[in-house]
Amino acid sequence: MKKSIVFILGFILLYSCQEEKKEITVAEPAVEEEPVIIEEFGYILNNYLVIKDTIQKGENFGEILERHHIEYPEIYKIAIAARDTFDIRKLRAGKPYTILAKKDSTAKAQVFIYQPNQVEYLIVDFTDSIHTKFGRKEVKVVEKTATGIIETSLSEAIESQNLNYILAHEMSDIYAWTIDFFHLQKGDNFKLIYEEKFINDTIPVGIGDIKAAYFVHKDNPIYAFNFITDSTKNVNDYYDENAKTLRRQFLKSPIKFSRISSRYNLNRRIAYYGNKVRAHRGTDFAANVGTPIMSTANGTVVESRYKGGNGNYVKVKHNSTYSTQYLHMKKRAVKKGDYVKQGDVIGYVGMTGNTAGPHVCYRFWKNGKQVDPFRQKLPSADPIKENLKESYFSYIAPLKQQLDNIPTSYIETAVASNILPE
Ligand SMILES: [Zn+2]
Repeated sequence: MKKSIVFILGFILLYSCQEEKKEITVAEPAVEEEPVIIEEFGYILNNYLVIKDTIQKGENFGEILERHHIEYPEIYKIAIAARDTFDIRKLRAGKPYTILAKKDSTAKAQVFIYQPNQVEYLIVDFTDSIHTKFGRKEVKVVEKTATGIIETSLSEAIESQNLNYILAHEMSDIYAWTIDFFHLQKGDNFKLIYEEKFINDTIPVGIGDIKAAYFVHKDNPIYAFNFITDSTKNVNDYYDENAKTLRRQFLKSPIKFSRISSRYNLNRRIAYYGNKVRAHRGTDFAANVGTPIMSTANGTVVESRYKGGNGNYVKVKHNSTYSTQYLHMKKRAVKKGDYVKQGDVIGYVGMTGNTAGPHVCYRFWKNGKQVDPFRQKLPSADPIKENLKESYFSYIAPLKQQLDNIPTSYIETAVASNILPE
């Protein structure tokens, strides 16, 4: 009987605590068994009244401490003392914190621990004197494998298996120059060997490196191995099984035989406009009307239309960083949404829009800004250097074998029955 009253009482307490969105843990007094020692942030939690909560919108450090029985003059002292380590005004709503309070009737706070992210934490300890400390939870890196088959999109394939969405992002980065992720086909599939980071062995806190990948697009398999080519500068990149880079260089010109008639020049003066500065943010390639214009790299057509001074133009997005644009076309040969490969004809030289003679004005966009393509450090498309090849091949051999051994039937089973692999 007595037991059930205690149980009910406990239930009410627990229930009311949840109402306040607070979790108060008091370590049970030992009956017969040894108490389980719970350690976190370098403190034995059993010795305290532990309150875990999250910063509310508009709530500040002072209010939190006051609620846990610290008086204002002391709060002020704590805030000043902590200032050099952490600006307590920067507590962000929604972030978790922990109060370690005295386990007596005063329930007075002694330690405040703030977690700006899942890995780092800040301790403000005012048990005796005031001191602050930054800490990091131990992060364990675990190597994992994943596979997937495309039904509709890459992100759907990733999400349907409860994999971290970052993997989709990373994969589209690795294959940015070789695969058009907006036009994947049903049945395209992938395998990955990657690192995932955990704290407390169970809480995932992010993805490390993708060590190796295999992507089959339109029945064309492409391997990718992450390899450090310069260990002192920590330069790494992805190469295929033949040590060739997965990147593609831009063509130097969108036209096969032509000459540059006007370069990118922000201080160009034009007599026609009264010698005023008219910045030229493109490179003009003069050629006869009707000469084919090529896309300088693989990408997706994001604009194909006629507009004012540009005339007929096409804009191609190559990846999240680069786009190119081709102006004054006589005729456009692609439409918005088309995927084009490097060298594909996208239109023909003309004189539409503002132009005095037949040419293509080639505009090069980097992160939304027009830049001079001849002054860019563009991605290198060089293969691995000869002197590194031997170590590269011996490095990738076991990784390739590991990838090859991930059965495709496993991919099919996983998708067919919706079994979530680890
Ligand atoms: Zn131009």
